[in-house]
Amino acid sequence: MDANVRLRDIPSVDELLRSAGVADAVGRFGRPVVAAALRRVLTSIREAVREGADIPSSATIAAAAVAALKANERSTLRPLFNLTGTVLHTNLGRALLAETAIDAAMAAMREAVALEFDLASGKRGERDDHLRGLICELTGAEDATVVNNNAAAVLLTLNSLAAGREAIVSRGELIEIGGAFRMPDIMLRAGVRLTEVGTTNRTHARDYRDAIGPDTGLILKVHTSNYRIEGFTKEVGARELAAIARDKSVPLINDLGSGTLADLEHFGLAHETTVREAISEGADIVTFSGDKLLGGPQAGFIVGRKALIEKINGNPMKRALRVDKIRLAALEATLRLYRDPDRLHERLPTMRLLARPQTEIKAQAERLAPLVARATGGAFAVSVVACESQIGSGALPLATMPSAGLALTPSSGSGRMLAKVAAALRRLPIPVIGRIERGSLILDLRCLEDEEGFVADHAHLDMACEGGADGEPS
Ligand SMILES: *Cc1c(COP(=O)(O)O)cnc(C)c1O
Repeated sequence: MDANVRLRDIPSVDELLRSAGVADAVGRFGRPVVAAALRRVLTSIREAVREGADIPSSATIAAAAVAALKANERSTLRPLFNLTGTVLHTNLGRALLAETAIDAAMAAMREAVALEFDLASGKRGERDDHLRGLICELTGAEDATVVNNNAAAVLLTLNSLAAGREAIVSRGELIEIGGAFRMPDIMLRAGVRLTEVGTTNRTHARDYRDAIGPDTGLILKVHTSNYRIEGFTKEVGARELAAIARDKSVPLINDLGSGTLADLEHFGLAHETTVREAISEGADIVTFSGDKLLGGPQAGFIVGRKALIEKINGNPMKRALRVDKIRLAALEATLRLYRDPDRLHERLPTMRLLARPQTEIKAQAERLAPLVARATGGAFAVSVVACESQIGSGALPLATMPSAGLALTPSSGSGRMLAKVAAALRRLPIPVIGRIERGSLILDLRCLEDEEGFVADHAHLDMACEGGADGEPS
């Protein structure tokens, strides 16, 4: 029969929408979405029919459209297992929130809240009021405000305190923090003129003193979060720099980056300057992130002298960089946990994960090794290995924590097989992200708390492996 004649026998979208197999999908996805999916399937059927193929049944066409919708339904932002060994992985969303923070955020999402409303007086309030007291209590600062992230905190601080004037920074601290955050670029956008002092490896007190002039707006000290210069080096400590700044009557801004409120030595890690220490060293303003070591949602804190914070709050840019009620609620709940430092490692996931002992992680690896070996169907040797985790997000960049995990080493084929199993793991209902290291795929189990979920997830691995036999999904 002529293809054009046969094309008329293909059911219409309307007919298909009325068919039995589609009703459920309409209820679930909505009519317009199902109609669009049916149209896409019909387009390819028309093409196939022109080439001589038979017309599938209405039920087959409907099933194809529904399957496509279901495959598309899973969010690309769905939860995954971070087995990279980097606890605060920027690309995987950094800190996991404490249960109390999650509850507080949910409540703020569901109900009206006194965001900018003073319950005592019934008058207008300020959104910073919810956090100011807690932050000052925990850091020793006079005043505080919160913005979208630490990049915003630095941008807003520079613009508020030194627009059109010079900001003095050591050449050794002109860092790039991944992505688009480069200190010289931020300074340019903040409208301050960058005055570099010292050299890459050595900056002296006199370099700062000589550079300060009538046009100096501030001195900026930046935590060199993600690298370390070793060897013949010299930097001016915050305390000494604060004395110079005070002497010349210019404010000292200390961008701590991660900024911790807890003493990391409690968790067997090296010492990282706490925000309280940075304040007591004499910085006029300290900036730090909410979702790095602090363990809260994305946010940027600006803490320090009252007069400077008032100036920062008076900047119209503040409005563009402020945080919403959901994050404020989560931040408040997170900060409250710091009032009881002894129980922090039980309640705050970031600290809990950093504190997990290697022996415990190794025992978990031993429990899971046979299961993962079975799931990979003998294509990989699966062994329990010692490995090193890192904090991530630029906190103590050289520090590592002894950890344990599973090494998946291909029995043959090496590189291609590694890429294949990594892709299969990414396709699991809960994707598993590891790291490839010296010919093996390493799954560092430091951050695996939901062992049951991981076990259930692995039941799907064979299937995923087969599905990926022809290479990576597009
Ligand atoms: C991480 C970091 C920033 C940026 O903070 P975000 O919260 O990611 O915006 C700025 N400065 C330093 C020193 C950092 O380590």
